[in-house]
Amino acid sequence: MNVDWERLGDGVFRCRLPFLDVTVGLVQGAAGVLLVDTGTTLAEARAIDRDVGELAGHAVSHIVLTHNHFDHILGSSAFDEAVVYGAPEVAATKKEHLRADAIRHGADAAEIDRAIAALRTPEHLIRHAVIDLGDRSVNVVHPGRGHTNHDLIVVVPDARVVLCGDLVEESGDPVIDDDSDVAAWPATLDAVLEFGGADAVYVPGHGAVVDAGFVRRQQQWLAGRM
Ligand SMILES: [Zn+2]
Repeated sequence: MNVDWERLGDGVFRCRLPFLDVTVGLVQGAAGVLLVDTGTTLAEARAIDRDVGELAGHAVSHIVLTHNHFDHILGSSAFDEAVVYGAPEVAATKKEHLRADAIRHGADAAEIDRAIAALRTPEHLIRHAVIDLGDRSVNVVHPGRGHTNHDLIVVVPDARVVLCGDLVEESGDPVIDDDSDVAAWPATLDAVLEFGGADAVYVPGHGAVVDAGFVRRQQQWLAGRM
């Protein structure tokens, strides 16, 4: 394996990429393999692609991009066979903005240029979707505004796993920038918790897996910043 995969349930895994500790999620079904976010570079993505072949025995068939930040979307074009889902805002993101943001966060300029040159528009521009993987389905939901105005979460009901994107972060405080809606974020986390329930495993966009109690505490922290 090129990266460490943490098993979260039957056929559900995640890894934490060394660059920025960004989460990539993996949900395996009888008829498909779903990836949640794709890292920053094509090199990272190709390493993941090889691992998925070993772990799941199939190529990635579906990708969900949780939001339009470079560290979640720029690897997506490495997965030739996959159908990509994302919010309309992901497709509308300017390449200059992606590049500047990536460089500002310390990414390698040549790698970013290669990823941006290859970047394709998601085939499915969505707010909600049900993705059928054969013996299981996952729900893709926009629970409300927060880290950005278009964050999507991926709920795997049979495994009680919720991949939260950057609506939840564990390795540092949630990142609040010009794209964020701090006033709406706490109510959005209510919706996230409703989709997952009290016993679900919540997977942050950056950092270790957390529980509902952690999400509640992050909600209180955010409410204090309104
Ligand atoms: Zn983000």
